[in-house]
Amino acid sequence: MSAPVRDDLKSTLNLPKTDFAMKANLPVNEPKILARWDEMRLYDKIRQAGSGRPIYVLHDGPPYANGLIHLGTALDKCLKDFVVKSKNMAGYDAPYVPGWDCHGLPIEIKVDESLGRKKLEMDPLQVRQACRKYAEKYVGLQREQFQRLGVLGRWNDPYLTMSAQYESEIAQTFFQFLEKGFVYKGLKPVYWCIFDKTALAEAEVEYENHTSPSVWVKYALTSNPAKLDAALAGKKVNTIIWTTTPWTLPASMAVAFHPELEYVALESGGQVYIVADALAAATKEKCNLTDAPEIARFKGRVLERSTFAHPFLDRSILGVLADYVTTDQGTGAVHTAPSHGADDFYTGAKYGLDQSCNVDEAGRIHNGLPEYDGKTVFKANEPIVELLKSRGALLGHEKIEHSYPHCWRCHNPIIFRATEQWFIAMDGKMEGGTLRSRALEEIKTVKWDPAWGELRISNMVETRPDWCISRQRIWGVPIAVFFCASRDCNELLRSSDVNRKVVELFAKEGADAWYKHEASAILPLGIKCAKCGGSEFRKEMDIIDVWFESGSSHAAVLGHEPGLPWPADLYSEGGDQYRGWFQSSLLCAVGTRGKAPFREVTTHGWTLDPQGQAQHKSRGNAVDPDAIAKKLGGEIIRLWASSVEYREDSRSSDELMNRVAENYRKLRNTFRYVLGNLSDFDPGKDAIAFDQMDFLDQAMVLRTADLNDEIARWYEARQFNKVYHQTNEFCVSDLSAVYFDLLKDRLYTAAPKSRGRRSAQTALWRIGETLVRAMAPLMSYTADEIWQMLPQMNDRPASVHLALFWKRNEVLGATVPNDRAESIRSEWSQLITTREAVMLALEPMRKEKEIGSGLEAQVEVRADGAIYAVLEKHAAALRELFIVSQVKLTRAESPNGGAPVEVRVARAEGTKCERCWTYSTQVGKDTEYPTVCERCSASLKEIAAERAA
Ligand SMILES: [Zn+2]
Ligand SMILES: [Zn+2]
Ligand SMILES: [Zn+2]
Repeated sequence: MSAPVRDDLKSTLNLPKTDFAMKANLPVNEPKILARWDEMRLYDKIRQAGSGRPIYVLHDGPPYANGLIHLGTALDKCLKDFVVKSKNMAGYDAPYVPGWDCHGLPIEIKVDESLGRKKLEMDPLQVRQACRKYAEKYVGLQREQFQRLGVLGRWNDPYLTMSAQYESEIAQTFFQFLEKGFVYKGLKPVYWCIFDKTALAEAEVEYENHTSPSVWVKYALTSNPAKLDAALAGKKVNTIIWTTTPWTLPASMAVAFHPELEYVALESGGQVYIVADALAAATKEKCNLTDAPEIARFKGRVLERSTFAHPFLDRSILGVLADYVTTDQGTGAVHTAPSHGADDFYTGAKYGLDQSCNVDEAGRIHNGLPEYDGKTVFKANEPIVELLKSRGALLGHEKIEHSYPHCWRCHNPIIFRATEQWFIAMDGKMEGGTLRSRALEEIKTVKWDPAWGELRISNMVETRPDWCISRQRIWGVPIAVFFCASRDCNELLRSSDVNRKVVELFAKEGADAWYKHEASAILPLGIKCAKCGGSEFRKEMDIIDVWFESGSSHAAVLGHEPGLPWPADLYSEGGDQYRGWFQSSLLCAVGTRGKAPFREVTTHGWTLDPQGQAQHKSRGNAVDPDAIAKKLGGEIIRLWASSVEYREDSRSSDELMNRVAENYRKLRNTFRYVLGNLSDFDPGKDAIAFDQMDFLDQAMVLRTADLNDEIARWYEARQFNKVYHQTNEFCVSDLSAVYFDLLKDRLYTAAPKSRGRRSAQTALWRIGETLVRAMAPLMSYTADEIWQMLPQMNDRPASVHLALFWKRNEVLGATVPNDRAESIRSEWSQLITTREAVMLALEPMRKEKEIGSGLEAQVEVRADGAIYAVLEKHAAALRELFIVSQVKLTRAESPNGGAPVEVRVARAEGTKCERCWTYSTQVGKDTEYPTVCERCSASLKEIAAERAA
């Protein structure tokens, strides 16, 4: 055999070989991977693989089917996908059924806008059809966008609140509430939008700034002033109220005082004014009451049942007491219009005041004086102020800008208006207490993450008013009850048989049936009104609050098939859902089943820009997930979502996304190194037992197993950012910077089948297999791409998403006792400490250009005690560990101030090996291979033997 020439030497190196491209080209490749998943029916396969395992149900909260997704929705869906995928890989059967909220005002308004005047000629069924089309369009678009993010789920069969099955489930849930006696129809002031002509739910109200008139109005006392205080006998006594809604004055029925507050009577210009002591100074100033000495003082309670004259109507106004009167602003005397305020309404009920409402659905005032009659409320303010002035009742007048409730949809200011609405009584009796008390007890059985969520939702449930569930719209599920149509009877038809019939009808035809059929066609023949015996009935045409609809999702989706049991293990949404979906779901489930629909609830924060501002398209600071997916890849959004501390508000910008993409490249390169060095490795045949592996390889596999254990705990705790950051850190600091670097010599120059190289490959393979699984829930596309390229073994599933996380023994390929593991960890850490000292010592020589790479150097490590023992034990590995040509180990007392080792550096001895570039005094000694070092010549002999075999 003749000595190989240089080119031949190169052919004896095992250089990395892989089809796994350095450049991911995610925007192009992800759709191909998606197509493959679709073709292999990956989600169904995952469910089959999970069959028989313990079930874990994350129940999806339905996003609203209008508009495209934004970063917040993307974050929400990614987090859910992390949970579902990690649960499946942790050995659960974790289904994911996505859903959409399809009914409701936002869609109906969009459709109204697009139909314009045409809507007036359309019947409700046609309008509903148009709304359905609109919702279907956005369900389709959003579905595509969510899938593009790599979210796996039952996309071909999601739940839609507008499906016939779901609509019948809503009706069913409503009837359960009705039959249990929770539902009542009552006159109540509700938030009302006069532009959309509908009642609004709490969750539909937003506070924005609004300029209102601010007026101080005189109410003259008509009862005997001496009864309040002897000092007032015979005087012209008044009180002063303050309001920012003069239009409510026509509905003024009472003036409320706080029973315990101190009130004073001030005399000015021949009149006496009663106001709260604490607000007297401010009131004097606003009402220009100069020289107004106090002539009496008394507690508010003496004013109860006193009477006043309405400032411009012929009406007696009652003095009443109320605890909500404060001294924050105003006068301490509160104008009370029961039809236009929640507090006012309750006070009105307590004192038997007239609660009827003279403001219609469009906000027009009726039955009023000519000055304002027929005007809409906000336009009536001015004439009413004029009226007050002309009657001599206006004591002060200015404009204020204040926070005022607005409609979430049209952003116009809203009003309180007493209307006939359907309610669920929070204090309705049920087994074990009331709806409210039982809901509060159930909250305690749920795990809330973050923990403060429990207090938050408890407070809300404790103080919330009855649930107004009716809306005067078309696009939704009707409150499907009948009323007697006989004159003046109007009795509600109570029949559970009829209710069941309606549920069945909806299941068959959807809620459209309510609009399609006459009452008589739905009702059984011969049914009679229980009150008057009448046989004519009319249908209620109000529809149900969409929060009631989505709150029924647990009943619509869970408990119908074995793979989707009730209740859910987890609800996961944005923090705004404490007052939205979490609460409506809780109330719907407690009211109908007496139990919470979830075992655990977790929330995420908002997505903000880097300055902490909310993201808005109009501000230009919004990160569009679709644009990122097209530019950088859906994977980058996933990794961003995994990187943030989602329980708080998270920051994002295009630049931050680029940074994530940079990290992604590092991760990708880590795997590329693994794959590149496994092209000739068959784990079934070539893997080395743990005990036979090189120490450095053992140590890295052990570190991988340790990290993998932590990752399992982080997934369990949904600390995805720990998984992301720690895996990144491990790949960059442990693998790329140290292990992969030092391994190159052995991987490239040792004989392909040598024990040393197989040991390194075994380690790489174990690291690769462990990390690809560990990262699969987060980095779903790339993990599956890597999965296809890792050495294929028997019975290996076709996708990483069908695989399980590796357990500790699988990572190690052996059972490593704890004490053994502990000693490996400690020895590794001492070796690394020494390595760092060596690197530090090489640095000056590199700077002085005395050496190029470490291979041109030889080092002497001087150490003593335990560290010397470790270094001596692993003496054979030190050259590889330090990536130098020669290492000399000397036992010496620690010389420099207690540092564990001292490192001396010199130029390497001998000649540079042409093959591996290490220096050796042995180069040239082997006449067969005269240009290489002794290790290379040994390898070359082995290679020759391998090739011959
Ligand atoms: Zn509105
Ligand atoms: Zn009747
Ligand atoms: Zn060599």
